[in-house]
Amino acid sequence: MARILVTGGAGFLGAALCEKLLRRGDSVVCLDNFWTGRPDNLRRLATHPRFVFYERDVCRPFDIDVDEIFNLASPASPRHYQADPVNTLKTNVLGVLNMLELARRTGAKFLQASTSEVYGNPHIHPQAEHYCGNVSPVGIRACYDEGKRAAETAIYDYRRQYGLNVRVARIFNTYGPGMDVADGRVVANFIVQALRGGDITIYGDGRQTRSFCYRDDLLEGLMCLMDAPDDVTFPVNIGNPQEFTVRQLADLVLEATGSRSNMIHMPLPSDDPLQRCPDITLARTRLNWVPRIALREGLRRTIGYLEEQLKPAAAA
Ligand code: NAD
Ligand code: UDP
Repeated sequence: MARILVTGGAGFLGAALCEKLLRRGDSVVCLDNFWTGRPDNLRRLATHPRFVFYERDVCRPFDIDVDEIFNLASPASPRHYQADPVNTLKTNVLGVLNMLELARRTGAKFLQASTSEVYGNPHIHPQAEHYCGNVSPVGIRACYDEGKRAAETAIYDYRRQYGLNVRVARIFNTYGPGMDVADGRVVANFIVQALRGGDITIYGDGRQTRSFCYRDDLLEGLMCLMDAPDDVTFPVNIGNPQEFTVRQLADLVLEATGSRSNMIHMPLPSDDPLQRCPDITLARTRLNWVPRIALREGLRRTIGYLEEQLKPAAAA
């Protein structure tokens, strides 16, 4: 049994990770400032004897004895991170520096929730970890993309300079139950729009691609990475290599919900990557990890969750 700190633990992925770690028998310390996370996500965990919550900003130093740190604190939806880009950059840069200092003081193993966004609008396809990316340092996504890139720099400098035991997961678009109705990312948007009978908002022509990973597959991947042998210190892509256009996703959501919503087109936001698909050779061969839940099945489960959330009693 380990004592594990999860930053961003009140968020979509963080709360499910806390739950999974508790189920495994670990003690969990959760840190979150509820920027995009919700107290409701922690309701089931709050009374657990091995769970403790600190309402804190990861940008401020935090001292506690732990064996492992999962650093997930950061808004992840473009809607959220673009609403306060300065805080996004601070969270990703100052937040990771604080958590690396904590790892240095305690000797804890450190895992960073990095992102496929480090590849930007990629020139190679699918994206393997050696690709250095194509990111605009000045665009509207830069606060997040460059923040995560700087975080990776800090992690490998701490490793070289202080010998920290580090892990970096480059997470590709992940969805599932637990996503907020107002999350703003494409899967949540399309499902909520379809369930409400509103227009499905396709940005651009809908031919841009993403590869969608189901939440539980992703969490399994993060835990495999944390538990991997100590030579697995390089970045590892965690995602589902099945690639879909945004238009195909809209079709699947309409089919799965039985909705008669119309599709409408809206302008494509600037710097929106045209294609994205992980090469997961490293995860497969070094972690023995592959995703298992296909998009249709994952959508079915996510629709069930969001349907419940939209019921008047859940909103009250
Ligand atoms: P989320 O927005 O649901 O969760 C992020 C959590 O971090 C929230 O609970 C939020 O309140 C908290 N947080 C943000 N800033 C903070 C701060 N300064 N101090 C303390 N807490 C703070 O997002 P998510 O989808 O659960 O993503 C979790 C992590 O995984 C993020 O680091 C994100 O960059 C990374 N990631 C997610 C995806 C994905 O598709 N879900 C893809 C790539 C990377
Ligand atoms: N998108 C869309 N309609 C929406 C939300 C997003 O067409 O209502 C598109 C968006 O432009 C992008 C893709 O869906 O091309 C994935 O967007 P998301 O915000 O989920 O994540 P990203 O991968 O862009 O960070």
